Order: sequence, then structure tokens, then C-alpha cells
Amino acid sequence: MTILEVRNLKVYYYLYNGVVKAVDDVSFTVEEGEILGIAGESGSGKSTLAHSILGLVKPPGKIVGGEIIFQGRDLTKLSEEDLRRLRGREISMVFQDPNTYLNPIMKVGYQVAEVYEAHQNIDMDKILDRVAKLFKRVRMTDPEKRVGSYPHELSGGMKQRALISMAVALKPKLIILDEPTSALDVTIQLEIIDLLREMRDELNASMIFISHDLELLSELTDKLMIMYAGRVVEYGYTKDVFKDAKHPYTEALINSIKYIRKGLLPTIEGEPPSLINPPKGCRFHPRCPRRFELCDRVEPKPISIAGRIVSCHLYGEEYGEGG
Ligand code: SF4
Repeated sequence: MTILEVRNLKVYYYLYNGVVKAVDDVSFTVEEGEILGIAGESGSGKSTLAHSILGLVKPPGKIVGGEIIFQGRDLTKLSEEDLRRLRGREISMVFQDPNTYLNPIMKVGYQVAEVYEAHQNIDMDKILDRVAKLFKRVRMTDPEKRVGSYPHELSGGMKQRALISMAVALKPKLIILDEPTSALDVTIQLEIIDLLREMRDELNASMIFISHDLELLSELTDKLMIMYAGRVVEYGYTKDVFKDAKHPYTEALINSIKYIRKGLLPTIEGEPPSLINPPKGCRFHPRCPRRFELCDRVEPKPISIAGRIVSCHLYGEEYGEGG
């Protein structure tokens, strides 16, 4: 069953020097219990996309087109009050840096308790009891004691577990995770990934996991969407994409894993383009090793090939290898 369908979404930022087309005509679906990974360099639009689902894009940003259908309702049409009710209860989010999300002068257990308080009418003792159980479930050490700890008394991994507790407290149908493990060391990252898998199975929740770490996404996700300069360039089952990447940008990202394994800094030649004045034709053409004469003139349309969506002229019926 489809939980979320995003259709032709456009999110633009209106700045004094031009319009940044951060998300430009993006479509995808998330099925029940599925984990969708979204990858791309910084500035590719992946975080804006995640924030727009929860109605968290603030001016000068604006959703200017498209639909976000969550369980039959178009979220772009909901009032701020309806969105507030939805957040936490039906869709929740875990952010990259717990320090910017946790209140430093409030005990973490009480911060998690606020999620219950906002949505359910239960007395505080019972709520704190639930929070302690939740802390135990997300494998916090000494969970009862942690309820009364301040954020600065917790390690990075523990803080992220506290945020995950908040995100799963009300058993939402969709959890959006924006680079939730990038600030953690590898061992803790793996523990958090295991925990997220368990949570998905337990709650049958769907997840959208945003990361620039393709290796991690290959371990965790069912489907993978690669974004470049506000557009989707490749979208399909993770195992297929890793086995046989079609888009030259996806290929370059996957090849960069080999560099990481060798302890080198992965690079793709050139810079990501300006989103105010993106290159004409294919946005990746100035960096693409396989570009040909058509690429700087005509923008490739998404086409279906090998069970996935790819936007590249190499596979267009008229010009490329065909579908
Ligand atoms: Fe490269 Fe052309 Fe494909 Fe763009 S359309 S990725 S420039 S081959």
C-alpha cells in the first residue's frame, strides 16, 4: 500500500539575487514498511524535500507546485494547525544534529514526554514511565536515570537515541531521517541503523532516510533516489541501482565508495551547479564524462528503464541505448 506519493513537487527559495529552485519537479512514492534512501551532494535538494513533506519550509522558501499525498490527503493544502497535529503522530522527523533540536536546559525525558503531552491526555507520572520504557527500547544505558539527564550529560549516540524515541513515541506511519548518523562514529552508526531496522519491523513504519553516505544507504534501504541540482536523476530498487547504475552521476557516486574504502576523499570533477542559474540542457553535463552534443541543449526527461526511472539522454529512445 502506498503511504506517500509526491507528485511533481517544486520548492523554490525567493532570494534577492534570484530564485533558487531547490526541488524542481520531483516525483516518487513510499510504500508501507519501505525504507527509501535519498542521496546526493549538499545542495541537491534532499533536505528541502524532507522538510517540505512536514510543512517545515520557511520563507523565503515556498512550495510552488505539485502535491504531497499522505494517506489520501494532500499535505500542501493543510493548515498549519492540521500539520502540527500530524507531526509526531503520523509523520515524524529525526534531524542530523540533536544539539540544535534538544533544549539544553530541559531534561531529555521531559522533552520526550512533551510529545505524549501534546497529543494524548495522560498524567505526567505515567508519561515518564512510558518514556523510561521507550529509552530502554532504544537501548539507552540506564534508561530510568536518563529520563532525568540534561542533553549535555549524554553522548552523541545517546542524544540521537533520545531523538529517535521522540520520533517513534506515537507510532507514526512515516519517519523522515535527515542525516541522522553523520555526526556519529562508525560503531554507533551501525547500532543506530540496526535500531532503525528493528523499529521499522516493529511499527511497520515507512522511512525516508537522507544521507550522502551511499554505503550506509546500500545496507539499510529498499529503494534509492539519487538527486542532483534539485532533480531526480535515478530512482529504483537499491540492489538494482548498486548492481547496475544507469545514470553517470549515480555511477560516479558509487565509484566514490571505492575511494572511501581506500581512505581517500572521493571527488566528482567540477562543482555542483548554481540552482539560480542551472546549466542548460542536462544539469550534470558540465561534469559528465559521457556527455554528447545533445546534453547541453536539451533537458533529459525521466524515462523508465530496467525497472527504474532515469533522466539521461543515453537511454532516450531517439538518441540513446533505448529502454
Ligand atoms: Fe551525461 Fe548527457 Fe546523461 Fe546528462 S544526459 S548524464 S550529460 S550523458
